[in-house]
Amino acid sequence: MHYQTKVRSIRCQDRAVRGVELDDGTVVPAEAVIANASGVGTYLELTHAIPSPVRSRLRRLPLQSPGICVYLAVRHPTPPPYLRFFLPGGDAWCRLLVTPAMLAPELSHDGWYPARLIAPMDHTMAETGGVEVQTALLNRVLSETWWQDHVGEYRVIDTRIPADWGAAYHLYHNSMNPVMTARFMRAGRLAHRSPYIQGLYLAGSATHPGQWVSFCAISGILAGDCVVEDLGTC
Ligand SMILES: Cc1cc2nc3c(=O)[nH]c(=O)nc-3n(C[C@H](O)[C@H](O)[C@H](O)COP(=O)(O)OP(=O)(O)OC[C@H]3O[C@@H](n4cnc5c(N)ncnc54)[C@H](O)[C@@H]3O)c2cc1C
Repeated sequence: MHYQTKVRSIRCQDRAVRGVELDDGTVVPAEAVIANASGVGTYLELTHAIPSPVRSRLRRLPLQSPGICVYLAVRHPTPPPYLRFFLPGGDAWCRLLVTPAMLAPELSHDGWYPARLIAPMDHTMAETGGVEVQTALLNRVLSETWWQDHVGEYRVIDTRIPADWGAAYHLYHNSMNPVMTARFMRAGRLAHRSPYIQGLYLAGSATHPGQWVSFCAISGILAGDCVVEDLGTC
């Protein structure tokens, strides 16, 4: 077990896995590698052995941004609904205020109640505009009255922009998943058993059945099943 250890690359030879190289240069030989990092990131950043048309196709996949988030403490319990959406109109995307203490008052702490303000963001805009544009959206949403009027007195506990999520969770290009376009879904998500590199298995985002906590365990099991089938032992 190597905790807190980054994999720099997946070593391949003759289109077959040979092991992984860690960030400190240590090479761990292996016949099989299960990557739980993003499937797209695994192919594009950790290996160099996939055909270039596949690389180009993966590079073109539109990605989803985690958007911005503000963690709030509000002074008074908020009235329903638990999820309050706001559509600003024009080109602006929706915003959401989540007030969980409405359903679970025991979440209150020293007379303050938790709440969360969330807004999605276009991935291309977030990446090309960088921290400046991401922070501008966060500040704009924070200054809006549709939620302030609803919660009354509040404190900002913490904030996250896409760059923060990406750094904290080592997300590929600050994204948790490719956008689930009809085209991507028709083409199928990335296979758990790599058709390009023998011995490489993918369990991370962009594999079947998809993102979300309930699904990510299933992709691990399906990738593990492929290893057992191929190596013939359990
Ligand atoms: C902001 C945000 C909010 C979300 N909200 C929800 C939600 O409310 N409900 C929900 O169901 N899902 C949510 N998701 C999605 C959820 O995070 C994922 O579905 C789930 O965590 C995916 O699990 P995973 O194991 O596939 O990937 P991850 O949890 O991302 O695990 C991948 C791991 O690989 C590690 N890693 C990456 N690259 C390397 C490398 N080179 N070397 C070594 N390790 C590496 C990362 O550090 C990470 O620990 C959210 C995601 C984000 C970003």
